[in-house]
Amino acid sequence: MKRILIAEDEPGIVSFLEKGLRAAGFITHAVGDGRTAGEIARDRDFDLLILDLGLPGRDGHDVLSEIRSRGERMPVIILTARRGIDDTVGGLESGADDYVTKPFRFEELVARVKVRLRDQGTPDPLVLDSAGIRLDLKTRKATVGGKEVALSAREFNLAEMFFRHPGQVLSRQQLQSQVWGFDFDPNSNVVDVYVGYLRKKMGADLIETVRGMGYRLSAD
Ligand code: CA
Repeated sequence: MKRILIAEDEPGIVSFLEKGLRAAGFITHAVGDGRTAGEIARDRDFDLLILDLGLPGRDGHDVLSEIRSRGERMPVIILTARRGIDDTVGGLESGADDYVTKPFRFEELVARVKVRLRDQGTPDPLVLDSAGIRLDLKTRKATVGGKEVALSAREFNLAEMFFRHPGQVLSRQQLQSQVWGFDFDPNSNVVDVYVGYLRKKMGADLIETVRGMGYRLSAD
């Protein structure tokens, strides 16, 4: 059964959603503030998030960008009374998959939930590989040319980021916030230092420096 996290602070809407979604065969869990929503989305496994924008504690937009900056791709449907086009655009830009404005018909929401869950069909890969290097996401082991290379947890997470986005330039800021999970400090060189470790362990040409932008997993 698919598990849906509901982040909404209006009890009437929460009970309406929970009743309806459970009747439609989903497992639901509801939280009433933004901070808890961000934490629980990180710590527990959900298949989809229904996110109110106007939440106490933390605005829905912030919750969404935090979730996305961790690299989580669970579908997110924004639910809000705000009808402004700016909010819609802002929500979709910060990584929402869909948008439903209140008041809404339950059938409309549940149809959108089903579409999003269907889109999500491709399972997460368990092994990432490129250029003779394999990262096994289950055992957290890396091999280069068939030989195991010992990586620290941080090094593995950083390598995983590159392998999940082959050929894509990743900024220091993106890498730092996703791998270390703290706010970007422009004076920190932690990303550069760890890229150096990965090059040493996995090959000097593995990660290219893109001047003024960041780093990228080398195309070959
Ligand atoms: Ca609200």
